Amino acid sequence: MKEQTQILHSIPVDELTGSISVPIYQTSTFVQEAPGVNKGYDYSRSNNPTRKALEDTIAKLENGTSGYAFASGLAAIDAVVKLLKTGDEIIAVDDIYGGAFRLFTHVYEKFGISINYVDSTNSDNIAKVVTSKTKLIWIESPTNPTLKISDIIAIAAIAKKNDILLCVDNTFASPVSQKPIDLGADIVIHSATKYISGHSDLIAGLVITATQELGDKIKFIQNASGAILGPFDSWLALRGIETLSLRIRQHAENAQKIAEFLIQEKLIKNVYYPGLPSHHNHDIAKKQQKYFGGIVTFDLVIDDKELATAIVTNTKLFKLAESLGGVKSLCCLPCEMTHKSIPAEKRYRSGVTDSLIRLSVGLEDADDLIADIKQAIEIAVKQTAEIIAK
Ligand SMILES: *Cc1c(COP(=O)(O)O)cnc(C)c1O
Repeated sequence: MKEQTQILHSIPVDELTGSISVPIYQTSTFVQEAPGVNKGYDYSRSNNPTRKALEDTIAKLENGTSGYAFASGLAAIDAVVKLLKTGDEIIAVDDIYGGAFRLFTHVYEKFGISINYVDSTNSDNIAKVVTSKTKLIWIESPTNPTLKISDIIAIAAIAKKNDILLCVDNTFASPVSQKPIDLGADIVIHSATKYISGHSDLIAGLVITATQELGDKIKFIQNASGAILGPFDSWLALRGIETLSLRIRQHAENAQKIAEFLIQEKLIKNVYYPGLPSHHNHDIAKKQQKYFGGIVTFDLVIDDKELATAIVTNTKLFKLAESLGGVKSLCCLPCEMTHKSIPAEKRYRSGVTDSLIRLSVGLEDADDLIADIKQAIEIAVKQTAEIIAK
């Protein structure tokens, strides 16, 4: 059976009623026959049938042994960092998600965990900074927002050789495009807020492990720290997974068309999309991803925040908002929004200039989306004519 068929039919039919949709077990506790004698559930922080259906499904989809659902992507990341102890070191991708940077640097450094940020598109950069204290390598591929790709197989080899855990934030690719565990990763995390839920209607996070032993540790942390996903949100995420492969295919098809339109625009300097042969990491993207994703990022020949602001405020279909991965297209100005908490110098080094615009390409018709960007650029140029003249 092909993956999509397998996934749809691995979501269980309710044994009690035959309900084809997984019931939402909106309950805190479960009645016991005798002390300690129950039907496998005793308290919803520890385990809940709706959450379990989601956790089992994502584990299958990522080819892991076990999955765990959290209240947000950051709660999922937090659970993984809690595998470490004082004195341990993390090597992380320098282009890291802003919230993960804030958590690592401003929460965990305080507890004596140190973080080394490197450009992981060249895996030698990771090998160079490995020490006996390195316990976790943290990469995102593609990264946010310039879509840098790291060679997961090469990095997994470094991790294995040095007995270090490799965790891949697979949010941007989605398990439909990329399966890091198959490529050698130990742990995968998702902000399920994005493609997995797919409708911009919930905040959720997932952790998937390659081994049961690691899974048991994450399960312990999930229950001990308590940042679990509620039953209703688990149900929504599960419903998102049912259409994930269909959506990812269309997001990628639309994004490719938009990227190809953008490279021809005179006002645009760089277009970042792994599906373009001009993308720095196009070859490795082609090797490890099935689709190139739904995010397209570009900056302007005039690196001006006002001009970029005029573009993102004049689009009509692309709504100006943080987040990504939903059916409706979004745009954002990372320097003022998602990447505001990253120091300007570090931000520039990873290519996030003042004029950089990130598009989360939705499922509208690609021609309408292209027309929307065209008209926004025209108005923006008129509005900021003096800047252009300079
Ligand atoms: C959004 C995001 C997160 C954080 O997830 P939340 O659900 O917002 O907590 C982590 N990593 C990446 C790549 C993201 O895009």
